[in-house]
Amino acid sequence: MNVIFIWGKKMKKIIFNITVLMCFTTLFLANAQAQTTSGSDSRSAFAAIEAQGYNYLSSLTIEIIGIGTSGSGVGYGDLNGDGVIDSSDYILLRRFILGIISSINNITAADLNGDGNIDSTDVILLRRYIMEIIRVFPVESMAPTPTPIPTQAPTPTVDPNAKLVALTFDDGPHAQLTPLVLDKLDKHGVPATFFVIGQQINSSTSAVMKRIADSGHEIGNHSWEHQNMNNMSAQAIKESIQKTNRAIFEHTGQTPKFFRPPFLSTNSAMFSSIDLVFAGGVTANDWDQSTTAQQRASAILNGVRDGSIVLLHDVQPLPHPTPEALDIIIPELKRQGYEFVTVSDLFRLKGVLINPSDTKMYNSVP
Ligand SMILES: [Zn+2]
Repeated sequence: MNVIFIWGKKMKKIIFNITVLMCFTTLFLANAQAQTTSGSDSRSAFAAIEAQGYNYLSSLTIEIIGIGTSGSGVGYGDLNGDGVIDSSDYILLRRFILGIISSINNITAADLNGDGNIDSTDVILLRRYIMEIIRVFPVESMAPTPTPIPTQAPTPTVDPNAKLVALTFDDGPHAQLTPLVLDKLDKHGVPATFFVIGQQINSSTSAVMKRIADSGHEIGNHSWEHQNMNNMSAQAIKESIQKTNRAIFEHTGQTPKFFRPPFLSTNSAMFSSIDLVFAGGVTANDWDQSTTAQQRASAILNGVRDGSIVLLHDVQPLPHPTPEALDIIIPELKRQGYEFVTVSDLFRLKGVLINPSDTKMYNSVP
């Protein structure tokens, strides 16, 4: 669980960084210790984090101007400044560390251990905070108390009872249509999971696959050619899955954990042949071209509950109102207190094991 998700293409750089960081870890720890001597609480908080046995896998040292003013309304962890600390902030930080984006407006809020660097330690801390493993960032317990009223403790910005929902999109990748959905996810700052069809992954969609992965979205397996597997042999089923997994890995470095059966049809041969967890979801009839954006949105909003997987399509014939429906669905679910997560994060946050031996299809978790 304490492993940072890493894109395959960054591996070389990261392996190099491990070597460099081995040399600097001692220095880093000594420095962190020196900076936390202002309070025994902060030391013990930091020591507790260190004791978890983190690996310092990558590091990008950034000059932070004004870090000395921490403790007065910085909003640690809320990198997009929307008032909540959630997986959108996590994705933002991860993209920054990997150099996919070059700046974050609220950069001061990202130095969660208060060491003056924005690096993998902060990514780990943010992830652990969102997963409610820790309740306070080390930098917050280091901050000086600005007023003599200690009873005015900051209100936690993460609701431990936040409702979770996982948006998923089927039948891509497509060079023109998939970006319409990706643009909406960027606009609203939420992660999603894309169930892709293996034979559509080629040189014309390679850039789209990379964009999905680099944006922090998850990629699932939707078979090789969208065939109904009900009448297929176990061998043919396995080949369809494995070819698709290989194509996904070659283009993104991701290995899928989830499978979305074409037409949502399942049978025992599929469950025994496919070593992935089956994901269904709340649907919106968005394969019917006559369904309007509002009708699609209403179907999802009426069907969603805490833990739901939402099943939509990034690829359908034009006119395709699903991207437009996202402009209704996402803000409304945010208003209702939902946090958007990938399917993997939904399982983790709900404490449900991702077990490839399961013989059920999940429409929600648990
Ligand atoms: Zn499909």
